Amino acid sequence: MIATQFDYVRAQTLDEALTLLAQNEDAKILAGGHSLIPAMKLRLATPPLLIDIGRIADLSYVREEGNQIRIGAMTSHYQIESSELLKKICPLLPECAGHIGDVQVRNKGTIGGSVAHSDPAGDWPAAVIALNAELVVASKNGERSIKVDDFFLDLMTTALETGEILRELRINKSNGRTGQAYVKMHHPASGFAVVGVAANLTLDDSGACQRASIGITGVSSKAYRAGAVESELNGSGLDEQAIANAAARATDGVDINGDLFASENYRRHLAQVYTRRAIAAASERAR
Ligand SMILES: Cc1cc2nc3c(=O)[nH]c(=O)nc-3n(C[C@H](O)[C@H](O)[C@H](O)COP(=O)(O)OP(=O)(O)OC[C@H]3O[C@@H](n4cnc5c(N)ncnc54)[C@H](O)[C@@H]3O)c2cc1C
Repeated sequence: MIATQFDYVRAQTLDEALTLLAQNEDAKILAGGHSLIPAMKLRLATPPLLIDIGRIADLSYVREEGNQIRIGAMTSHYQIESSELLKKICPLLPECAGHIGDVQVRNKGTIGGSVAHSDPAGDWPAAVIALNAELVVASKNGERSIKVDDFFLDLMTTALETGEILRELRINKSNGRTGQAYVKMHHPASGFAVVGVAANLTLDDSGACQRASIGITGVSSKAYRAGAVESELNGSGLDEQAIANAAARATDGVDINGDLFASENYRRHLAQVYTRRAIAAASERAR
């Protein structure tokens, strides 16, 4: 199908984009366009104006600042996948990026676009939950920072308010013995996550789990923190039985989606299996 008519403006600076957004409440930000344009073609989205932020150079970066990793919202999946810095200090991000779509999607799609879009089968939301990210958003009134646990509200609904643009993701660098992993069952047709699990573990000197952080996508209307799994893991020796017991709680308290491809029961089963795999891989990498 063809999208309805719309106007298009390419913003040169973040401030210009924020001004345009403040003046046009129904406008949509265009980042990589790999979710928005398909939605417009299906007429699921009919914005009267697109504000393209794709050429704002200072929204696209990966850098270390003090104890944090900072990633600009317009950083592409490929930039993250190929970042030598991230491979060294936060390997979950490049690993997750490598699971997204194909080469074209990874070249154009952005981490900010994906997080702002909050597709229930998108990969980034699980990873940023596991990394306890902080999301910095800007508007004409200034900036605010949102903790990832307060960001994903419902199906394609986030804490971003009218007039706000996601500007940066901040992630605290890990200290000590950490291991991270992202595992995913790709939908055979779309490549999106039927289930995707991100695990981020910190071990103490004895090799026991000091802190577990687990994000799961694909299973429910939004990505979520698997709190019951984390509680089971914290303090455990991460042996096979402890991992299996924790993974069995992957969908505790969660409304599970069922569809033509994967029933509710099948998704529950997949969530448990992939959670076990993610924890086992992260634990192995931490040793
Ligand atoms: C064939 C195909 C396969 C794909 N496979 C996968 C996959 O396996 N896994 C996966 O996770 N994704 C997949 N995607 C989606 C892809 O990752 C998108 O790039 C991503 O979801 C959206 O990022 P974008 O930069 O393209 O955003 P856009 O499509 O430009 O924007 C998406 C939404 O976010 C808003 N937005 C964008 N940036 C900002 C910002 N900085 N602040 C506020 N709002 C903003 C837009 O207004 C829009 O509503 C696939 C897409 C395609 C076309």
